[in-house]
Amino acid sequence: MAAHPDDEVLGFGGTIALLAASGVRLCLVSVTAGEASHPHSLAPAARDLAAVRSRELRDALGRLGAADAQSVMLGMPDGKVSWHEQELSGRLAELFRDCDLCVAPYSRDLHPDHEAAGRAALDAGTRRGVPVWEYPVWAWHWAAPDDERLPWHRAARLQLPPEFRARKLAALACFRSQIEPLGDAPEDAAILPPAELAHFRRDFEVIWR
Ligand SMILES: [Zn+2]
Repeated sequence: MAAHPDDEVLGFGGTIALLAASGVRLCLVSVTAGEASHPHSLAPAARDLAAVRSRELRDALGRLGAADAQSVMLGMPDGKVSWHEQELSGRLAELFRDCDLCVAPYSRDLHPDHEAAGRAALDAGTRRGVPVWEYPVWAWHWAAPDDERLPWHRAARLQLPPEFRARKLAALACFRSQIEPLGDAPEDAAILPPAELAHFRRDFEVIWR
């Protein structure tokens, strides 16, 4: 699951590709459509970011070989997931009736939507007895490798074979509204410039379990 359409590919996309190739049944839950990534931008592309970002996600899943995955769009407001956390936990608990594992944004990622989505998944997982793995996204930006705030004792490194890393790189390139500026103004700046994107281009992924 993802708070915004791109979190799941940034944090877990290579493993999604591996699972899809192995025939695992996947359900991708998008909590928001990511419509608030550029709140002050006047660029044409900013007018309908929800549609743009949903399209980018669909393209990215195709590159991962996961075009057939079930997609659930919950349509909660970008930036305000915590206001709907209980409702989200309830929706996830319903989906968890037929689920062996949930992979969710890290509940201490220092991004309010990621944290609310992660907490809701952990809560629903506890109620339904479904294990929840958490993947960091923003934590890669603020934490150093030896940062004691991160639960390294629960970390697992998921190595990506070259073919699957290549699929992830192709999928990341689909998120043009996030990795390229929408226009020339400061408020059009890329959310994920190359230095930030580098965290997600590596040949491994990390989850807490
Ligand atoms: Zn996000």
